[in-house]
Order: sequence, then structure tokens, then C-alpha cells
Amino acid sequence: STINDNTAKATNVVKKKLNGYVGFANLPNQVHRKSVKKGFHFVVMAVGESGLGKSTLVNTMFNSRLIPEKEEVPPSTETPQTVAIQNISADIQENGVKLRLTVVDTPGFGDFVNNEESWKPILMDIESRFDSYLAQETRANRTKFVDNRVHACIYFIAPTGHSLRAIDIEFMKKLHTKVNLIPVIAKADTMTEDEIDAFKARILADIAHHNIQIFRPTSDSFDDPETVAENREILSKMPFAVVGSEKEVQTPDGRMVRGRKYPWGVIEVDNEEHNDFVKLRQMLIRTHMEELKEYTNLTLYENYRTAKLLSLGKVQDDSVFREYNPVVQMEEEKRLHETKLQKMEAEMNTVFQQKVQEKEQKLKQSEEELYARHKEMKLALEKQRQDLEEKKKRLETSLRPNTPDRKVKKGFGFK
Ligand code: GDP
Repeated sequence: STINDNTAKATNVVKKKLNGYVGFANLPNQVHRKSVKKGFHFVVMAVGESGLGKSTLVNTMFNSRLIPEKEEVPPSTETPQTVAIQNISADIQENGVKLRLTVVDTPGFGDFVNNEESWKPILMDIESRFDSYLAQETRANRTKFVDNRVHACIYFIAPTGHSLRAIDIEFMKKLHTKVNLIPVIAKADTMTEDEIDAFKARILADIAHHNIQIFRPTSDSFDDPETVAENREILSKMPFAVVGSEKEVQTPDGRMVRGRKYPWGVIEVDNEEHNDFVKLRQMLIRTHMEELKEYTNLTLYENYRTAKLLSLGKVQDDSVFREYNPVVQMEEEKRLHETKLQKMEAEMNTVFQQKVQEKEQKLKQSEEELYARHKEMKLALEKQRQDLEEKKKRLETSLRPNTPDRKVKKGFGFK
């Protein structure tokens, strides 16, 4: 029956036991080594009002002064009334692993009398990074690719203990489909543990209520139990309540730690019992950097790209858009590519014809040679045959008993 046939077929697939080390177990390491050589690039954005500890946290996270201390600028009419976008890039290295880190700082966010559109320059910045990536993708020469897309956006929530403010909700609503949002409660040392728990619950409720999507580590059935547990642990701490400090302070028991000193004690930055800084850093750098980058590339960017190409496709006939239109550009490149292919095909055909002709010529020549040899041999054989014929004839003549010759001989000799 067919069932039996199938099982027979299935059993043909023999599971081979490896008798020695083949080497493919090292594949993940190879990928890793390659990226280590090239170095990693991670772009993280920090958004929030001034004074919420953004610079301090970023510097604490990467253990270096990436964002310089800001000079106190007294508010004046001279201060630009817009959100600035500042890129700070640094190459950091740890155990031979290179990481190019770009921190996007957004000074001015939420700092003005009218903050209604604080999110706009930030959205524009994120989209322009997608645009520049898209432009590179559609270019013919894609060897020198620069990927400056924002992989994560840490959004600093003021430790008010109430609920999210209009500016927080507005920002997250506008940005959540464009970037991996990681909301954090800033300066968590200014709140008690109970206040933090209540505030976290409130924030999560607000986020859910407004259908805001924040970055959440995901586990699937392929993950090992350890990863699943790790992800669950990270999730349970969201939104992270963080404390930053670049200074070392002495604990009551005499240790020197990065932290903040209060009359009632010391808040340790790197102590998971004290705040969620370690969890945030672990997620960003150790466990989920690739996932953040992948989600940016495969989902956030892909959605943006599709929408952009579709909208540009609609206005394809509009000459104003023509030269900027990636769809038109792609068509043009496709056409060029096809012409090139046709030319290559024609060239290959010519070469092929030439080769065939040469081969035919050679075959003909060897055929002629063979024929000549054949003829030669035939002649030689013919001659041999004739010689043999001649010999045979002579022999026959000499052996025939009653030939006149013989008679003569007989008669002559013995009679
Ligand atoms: P930014 O304007 O958001 O970049 O904030 P800064 O990093 O410049 O910090 C503003 C002020 O807040 C500085 O005096 C910091 O020392 C202080 N600060 C930074 N992080 C924390 C924190 O976690 N807790 C407390 N209590 N203060 C902080």
C-alpha cells in the first residue's frame, strides 16, 4: 500500500551518527567572529525632558562619558524653540569586541511652553534614517552600506508617580510603529519601592489603553528554558525603573560602588535589588541587541518601506516626484540590468558559435586524417593481399603433382 511505501521511503533517511568532529558546530561562532571583526553597530536614542538623567544613564550604561555634561543655559529668547537632534558616535571595545555606538540625544524635548509637536522632529529624524537606508538599497552599488537606523529608543518618563502625561502618550503613539520603544522611569531613586510598583502598573495600563506597542522580548518554542526564564524576568521588570550615576560612592559597609548617596543610605546603580538599570543594560547589550536590530530591519523598516513605495508608486506620473521616486529608479535600474543581460547573452552566443565552428573544423580535419590513414592502410593491406596471393599461386604451382614441369622433372630424373 501507499502507506507502506511512504514508511519505506521514510526509513531510507538514515540518521548518521557522527564519528568525529565535523566542524559545523562552530558555525554560530563563525558568524560571531565575522561580526566581531567587522564590529557591531548599535544606534540608540534617548528621549525625554532635560534633567531626567538621560546623559547620565547613557554614560553609566557604557561606562564612559559619551554625552558630555551640558552647560546650564538659562532660558532666553535666544534658545531655539525646537527639539535638536544630536548624534554622538563612539567606538567602544571590550575583550576584543568592537562596538560602534551612536547615541541620539534630543535636547529640548518637552522643554518648551508649547510641547504639542515635540515628537515631530524626532519622528522626522527616524524616518529620514529609513529614507537614507532605502536610497542606499535601491542604488546599484550597494557595497558601502551605512546603516544608521535607530534600533532602540529609550523614553524617559518623569518620576511623577501619577500616570503618563499627554506628551508621553503623544510621543509613544506617534513613534511606536517606527522604533523599538523602551519606556523607563527616570530617577527611580526619588520614589519608594511601593510607589514604583504602583507607577509601573499605571504606566502599563495607560500603554495598553492607548494601544501603544512597546518592545517586549519574545520567546518561542525553539528557545531553551533558560532564555524563556530570562525573557520572563525582563518582562516582569518593564517599564524599567532606573538610576544612573557616573560617580562612585562608599556604602555603609565600606564598598565603593556606582551609586547615589542619601542621608538614609546608598542606592547602588549596579544592584538589581535597588533598581532595574542592570536589567535594562542586559536587555539592550547582552541579550536583545540582535533582536532589536532584527525587529527594526524586518518589521519597522519593512513596514515603512512598503508604505513609502506604495505612496510613491501612486504619484509615479507626477514629474515633480519622478527623480526622487525609488519605484521609478528601481524600474530604470531593472531596465538597465535587462539591457546588460541581453548584451551579455549576445556576446555569449557569438563566443559559442565561434567555439562550435572551431570544433567542427577540428573534427573535419581529424576525419580527413583518419580517412587518409584508412586509405593508406587499405592500400598497404591490398598490397599485402596481392603479395600473399602471388606467393600462394607460386606455391600451388610448385606443389601440383602432375604439372608438366613435374612430369618433366620425374621423367627427367628417375625414369
Ligand atoms: P539629561 O538632561 O536628561 O541628559 O540629564 P542629565 O544626565 O544631565 O542629569 C540631570 C541631573 O540629574 C544631574 O544633576 C544628574 O546628576 C541628575 N541625575 C541623573 N541621573 C539621576 C538619577 O538616576 N537619580 C537622581 N536622583 N538624579 C540623577
